[in-house]
Amino acid sequence: MARKNRDADWHAEEPAEAVPAEPCWLCGRPLGKTVDRFHPIPKSRGGRDTVPVHPICRETIDANFSASELVRHAQAGIALTDNETVARFVKWVAGKPVDFHSATKTGR
Ligand SMILES: [Zn+2]
Repeated sequence: MARKNRDADWHAEEPAEAVPAEPCWLCGRPLGKTVDRFHPIPKSRGGRDTVPVHPICRETIDANFSASELVRHAQAGIALTDNETVARFVKWVAGKPVDFHSATKTGR
């Protein structure tokens, strides 16, 4: 009887396995505290699916692709890293902390 209870307790105390961390859609790194949702196909073009990205990654996408370019990439199945600037960014950000965020809104 006592043993049975202990068994039950042991199971109850098993740490809840964390949901497998979804990597960033753009750079593939684990996500940090702040997660942005990005529309691979812009909402304005009828896209409803979102993917998790770092805020800095979303800004990079926004800065390098127009809505129609995003649609073209999504429909052709071309990774955004096909863009040289984005590819360079992904390589650069790979060495940064997951919550790294620099002000990219410069040069207005
Ligand atoms: Zn990212």
